Amino acid sequence: MRVVDMHCDTLSVLLRREREGQEVSLRQNDCMVSLEKMRRGDYGLQTFAAFIYAPEAENPLEEALSQIDLFERQMEENEDWIRPVRSYREIEETWDQGLMCALLSVEEGGACKGNPAFLRTLYRLGVRMMTLTWNFENELAYPNQSRREHPHGVVPEEARGLKEKGIEIIEEMERIGMIVDVSHLSDKGFWEVYEHAKKPFIASHSNARSVCPHPRNLTDEMIRALAERGGVAGLNYCAAFLDSDGTGTHAGRLEEMSAHVRHLIKVGGEDLVGLGSDYDGISKTPDMGGCDGIQKLAARLHKDGLTAGQIEKVFYGNVLRVFRELL
Ligand SMILES: [Zn+2]
Repeated sequence: MRVVDMHCDTLSVLLRREREGQEVSLRQNDCMVSLEKMRRGDYGLQTFAAFIYAPEAENPLEEALSQIDLFERQMEENEDWIRPVRSYREIEETWDQGLMCALLSVEEGGACKGNPAFLRTLYRLGVRMMTLTWNFENELAYPNQSRREHPHGVVPEEARGLKEKGIEIIEEMERIGMIVDVSHLSDKGFWEVYEHAKKPFIASHSNARSVCPHPRNLTDEMIRALAERGGVAGLNYCAAFLDSDGTGTHAGRLEEMSAHVRHLIKVGGEDLVGLGSDYDGISKTPDMGGCDGIQKLAARLHKDGLTAGQIEKVFYGNVLRVFRELL
């Protein structure tokens, strides 16, 4: 079953290793995502995020550019296996040549510093999706959780959402053709995107809050709103966002992944769900290992009663539909 995945953090891991003096390779490595593992897992497309950890990045834009440079160097080295794609047409052309596709995204809207010129520059470098926030406040918006009043736990951030600049950047993203990604955004921010966005938007790597009560996950109302707009939600394999008790101690089992997929379909319909692994941003997933084990999920979904057509939509069809419309 062909795989289209909306999110991994492999670039940030490889760049960190490179800065430590190691030689790095996207083709062959011990990360969860490598080109070799992607081939074994029947990957058609992987979205690679330039992930910026804001507290440590002096300049988030520079950090994004450094990861994009690493991406480009790896694409050149591996052009016999994979190509960077910027449009739906390029995805089709690349597959016609028997190659895999790589799409660039940014995880941390602070990378554009609230400046549309920087946003357009990232677009010209190939970035086609961007989360408005990661887990910290930035120029655009507030993130999904607040630790302020609850030092012992995370609670959804319901009071603060988009800032003035966030609304401006969303409008520009839609105008130039960059997909608005609400994963990591606050609940209030989600509803403000719903209010301001005119095109489908996505939650690239977020699960269902009714199944796992973590603020990174989507409420049923959000799932319905995303579906109504024609967007997608990508299944995240992180244990903390899968466990029904929200403890993250069950380490991401296939059973729980299937439960989220089935709930997302039940609430949002079968056109809503995609894959957003979060590989290399999460700890290991014992049932599947790295991205070469992804077909175990297809088998599990089949066992749990999904039809072949539904599994195809989850694995690639729904995300491709959004790419066809927006890219
Ligand atoms: Zn993330």
